[in-house]
Amino acid sequence: MSDHPTASSVDVIIVGAGLAGLTCARDLHRHGLDVVVLEARDRVGGRTHSVELDGQTIELGGQFLGPGQDRAYALAADLGVGVFPTYGEGDHLVETAAGRVRRYRGTIPRLSPLALLDAAQAQARFERLARRIDTDAPWRSPGAAALDGQTLETWIRRTTRTRAGRRLFTMACQAVWSCQPSELSLLHALFYARSAGTLQQVIAVEGGAQQDRLDGGAHELALRLARRLGDRIHLGTPVDRIAQDEYGVRVTAGDRTWRAAHVVVAIPPTMSGRIAYRPPLPAARDGLTQRLPMGAVIKCIAVYPEPFWRSNGLSGQATSLRGPVSAVFDSSPRAGERGILLGFVEGAEARFLSARPAPERQTAVLGQLAELFGPRAAAPAGYTEQDWGTEPFTRGAYSAVFPPGAWTQYGHALRPPAGRIHWAGAETSPRWYGYIEGAIRSGEAAAATITALPRRDRPAKAVSDGGPVRKSAT
Ligand SMILES: Cc1cc2nc3c(=O)[nH]c(=O)nc-3n(C[C@H](O)[C@H](O)[C@H](O)COP(=O)(O)OP(=O)(O)OC[C@H]3O[C@@H](n4cnc5c(N)ncnc54)[C@H](O)[C@@H]3O)c2cc1C
Repeated sequence: MSDHPTASSVDVIIVGAGLAGLTCARDLHRHGLDVVVLEARDRVGGRTHSVELDGQTIELGGQFLGPGQDRAYALAADLGVGVFPTYGEGDHLVETAAGRVRRYRGTIPRLSPLALLDAAQAQARFERLARRIDTDAPWRSPGAAALDGQTLETWIRRTTRTRAGRRLFTMACQAVWSCQPSELSLLHALFYARSAGTLQQVIAVEGGAQQDRLDGGAHELALRLARRLGDRIHLGTPVDRIAQDEYGVRVTAGDRTWRAAHVVVAIPPTMSGRIAYRPPLPAARDGLTQRLPMGAVIKCIAVYPEPFWRSNGLSGQATSLRGPVSAVFDSSPRAGERGILLGFVEGAEARFLSARPAPERQTAVLGQLAELFGPRAAAPAGYTEQDWGTEPFTRGAYSAVFPPGAWTQYGHALRPPAGRIHWAGAETSPRWYGYIEGAIRSGEAAAATITALPRRDRPAKAVSDGGPVRKSAT
């Protein structure tokens, strides 16, 4: 790579136009800094995304908000995006491992009392352990080495007393982390829950992380932020190289280059590990990005002429111990003029179905919706799905999963900048890790770090304009 004398200069370059990158850019711009946002896809929003299907807005990515997600609610209010409750009136459904479908009200599914008691006791122990976690530095939590030295699966096996209880708790974990409990460290599971408050808050609808939805979908937040940033956003611009020296950074996407005093990389850690850095990143930071795979999830959406389940006294919310769909929600528009069911296929089921032909996948998903909600569910007016593992600039979801050992050995390298390279994204937030809220907080935090720098380190175009980025560094 040769130096680019024609490179454009700005104060700060932001890589990634997800909610983290966009909020970061908004705040820096408000501080009078000249920013540019480089986005690989031909759209903004990253893991939030909406499309039109059968005349309806369909949410393919992040969607729900809940209590404690203050920055997300504030952003929605600031941008004029309305909030409404997730539909939950009537009976919920639970499908047993044997395929029997049962109705229930409230929060406790109609399953064997022994299994329910067992899973409840496991959850209570989990919540007690989670209270010990220091979300700013999970590796410094009491007993961190032991907690990080085991998988969530090991802990579930040791903690639960019945097969059915284990299955129930395992299913909840798969739904939360979109992977098998054998894939993640117990410390990570505890950190994740603690970063949201409690595991109960993570899994609950009312009073929990699935409580509310946004008019036009969560993608609307990204679209409106992007509108304010205008032509500072460059779409179709996958960054492949970042060089830095004492004068500034040079960020390259194909044959285009930008110079700045600082760069904020607001993409999932594993994606940040695919960029070439000069000089190379510190070993700990690179080691971290080698260890943080994304979960596996396929979001499946069926659109019907009306939410027919409501007239049968059903809320549209269902949980299955059988799969392949583990959780279903009523995702109809606010006024309920059409019916939309959304189903999540996660972890091992997602990996299996991802490799099957699309018609087979659709048959499996609609077949299960029909088992739950009756034959009308098998014939939607429209059906679509989003397999996040196949997305080249996300490669899985909902978020990065820390396997055993990663937090204690490499966690300290997650957040600190590497010289002039700052990190943002939902995975860098100590609060609401992996959520829309975490993404927004991380973008705001990165912007605050840069604007609080001592004067001599603060972005100033003159510095990056005048100073060479060493040729030998490329
Ligand atoms: C199916 C699904 C359901 C979810 N449900 C919820 C929910 O209900 N509630 C909730 O709060 N959260 C949910 N989430 C998680 C939430 O959507 C994410 O945590 C959040 O949107 C992440 O934002 P981000 O800006 O950190 O990262 P991203 O949204 O991943 O943004 C990163 C951006 O960087 C771009 N990029 C990647 N590599 C490069 C590169 N080399 N150069 C340039 N650009 C690059 C990507 O294209 C992307 O636009 C869900 C996610 C998914 C996928």
